[in-house]
Amino acid sequence: MAIKTPQQYIESLRDGRVVYFDGKRVPDVTEHPVCKITNNWVAMDYIMNNDPRYQDLLTDLDSNGERVSFALQPQRTPEDLFRLREVVKLWARVCYGKPTGAKFVAKDGLNAVTVVSRRVDKKYGTNYAANVEAYRTHLQKNDLSFAMGLTDIKGDRSLRPSQQVQHKDFYVRIVEDRPDGIVVSGAKSHISQAPACNEVLIAPCRAMQQDDAAYAVSFGIPLNTPGITMICAQPEIGEGANLFDHPVSAAVYINDATIIFDNAFIPKERIFLKGEWEFAGDVAYMFANFHRLSAETYKAMELELFTGAATLMAEYNGVDKKAHIREKLTWLVMYTEAVETLGRAAVEHCVGEDGSDLVYPSPMIANICKFYFADNWHTATKYIQDIGGGIIVTAPSYNDYVNPETHDFMEKYFGGKAGVPTEHRLRMVKLIRDLTSCYEDVLTIHAEGSLEAQKLSILQLADWSRYRAAATRAAGIVPATAHPLFVELPKFPPEL
Ligand SMILES: Cc1cc2nc3c(=O)[nH]c(=O)nc-3n(C[C@H](O)[C@H](O)[C@H](O)COP(=O)(O)OP(=O)(O)OC[C@H]3O[C@@H](n4cnc5c(N)ncnc54)[C@H](O)[C@@H]3O)c2cc1C
Repeated sequence: MAIKTPQQYIESLRDGRVVYFDGKRVPDVTEHPVCKITNNWVAMDYIMNNDPRYQDLLTDLDSNGERVSFALQPQRTPEDLFRLREVVKLWARVCYGKPTGAKFVAKDGLNAVTVVSRRVDKKYGTNYAANVEAYRTHLQKNDLSFAMGLTDIKGDRSLRPSQQVQHKDFYVRIVEDRPDGIVVSGAKSHISQAPACNEVLIAPCRAMQQDDAAYAVSFGIPLNTPGITMICAQPEIGEGANLFDHPVSAAVYINDATIIFDNAFIPKERIFLKGEWEFAGDVAYMFANFHRLSAETYKAMELELFTGAATLMAEYNGVDKKAHIREKLTWLVMYTEAVETLGRAAVEHCVGEDGSDLVYPSPMIANICKFYFADNWHTATKYIQDIGGGIIVTAPSYNDYVNPETHDFMEKYFGGKAGVPTEHRLRMVKLIRDLTSCYEDVLTIHAEGSLEAQKLSILQLADWSRYRAAATRAAGIVPATAHPLFVELPKFPPEL
């Protein structure tokens, strides 16, 4: 098989998977009214891959002439990374700032295990790199959607996996090592779109020590594997939510589910790390390196939408020329364009790894970009909520708007500036409500790693000797800190 049709993808989810939603077992995710929202959003990957307008960007022909998803190809050149940015931009623009999730997160995990498996094989003579390549081919040939299960549920955050007190399953771990594979237990949390994916790629979320060896485990398996239970995230919307009241959240329910492994069997050919604890941190770090491109590219697209909504709302309310509003709109434009520019710069300065031909964005610039957009998100939210007014949370619903008994009242009293239809103002109000939800706030702060994670990387990657060289030289300290950029500089000020 080459590229799947959307119908084949939906059909593939009827596989006996164990999913719970809001207290009830879901017999068939393709029939569930809210799970269907996720499926349809993920299906956009298949819809676009089959659309001749986008095929050249989104797909490649493999060595057998079969069409495969570009997202599943390893990126080896800066041009590949720029193309990937265009892919993510398209996915995000189509789906209101939220890239369709069939391969969005896990493709970066696949690249991470591609890099690290080679290192492990080199040290221990294992066969993980071949397993990863076979897995990549399997995903490509069958055009599978897959989720990334990195984040363990963790328990006490101050303790490593093996030190946990209440029980030993807060991180996914190997409970039995057999000749034909391993048996694992534990839980991963916030795993985006997992109930709408065919497979999950599991990897450790942190560095480990020797006594954590059982937790240093990575593998890829179907989500209907016996022993796997998924509990859906509580959605922002309920059954039957309409697109007028919830333009984004009724179209995109990412369903960041909890995945529980209860003695699930993993065949040996699907294992990418098994106890080599000193490489656990490498996998987590490499995932972040690859995933920054995805996160930063889609965020810039989301901000484009966000800033557009702020501008239109200001116009609809008749305040767009007021000084404090213009100031806020200017700040939003700077924020939007800075995220786009930093994301692009990170790719322009992309780097590689010893022993690997894959490339990823400059970790320094990429971490600054991620931190910058996450750290400023609440300021952006504050501005757009200020511009919009209290109506963002107090507007009546669509059903009131279409009820003949209340429609004319709403039409008359919810208008803004003359010439702007009341319906447009109400639609923009609802969009801003969705864009500034608690879900969006938490997603921006935590998804792709908490703020401290970026700060830690920035601190470690900083070119401290360059900064020190600049300062010691200007202060006249002898000897100045040595740095190639500074040692050859002419004496200043000159003695003329
Ligand atoms: C919407 C959404 C989607 C997501 N999708 C995915 C996904 O698809 N796949 C995936 O694997 N993950 C996913 N994540 C998980 C995401 O990567 C994590 O939320 C993030 O890494 C933070 O982990 P946590 O949620 O466990 O927060 P916590 O670890 O509980 O962090 C809370 C606070 O505690 C601090 N903290 C935690 N531990 C320590 C420590 N030891 N020392 C000092 N401070 C500490 C943190 O810095 C932070 O300030 C998603 C998250 C969200 C919100």
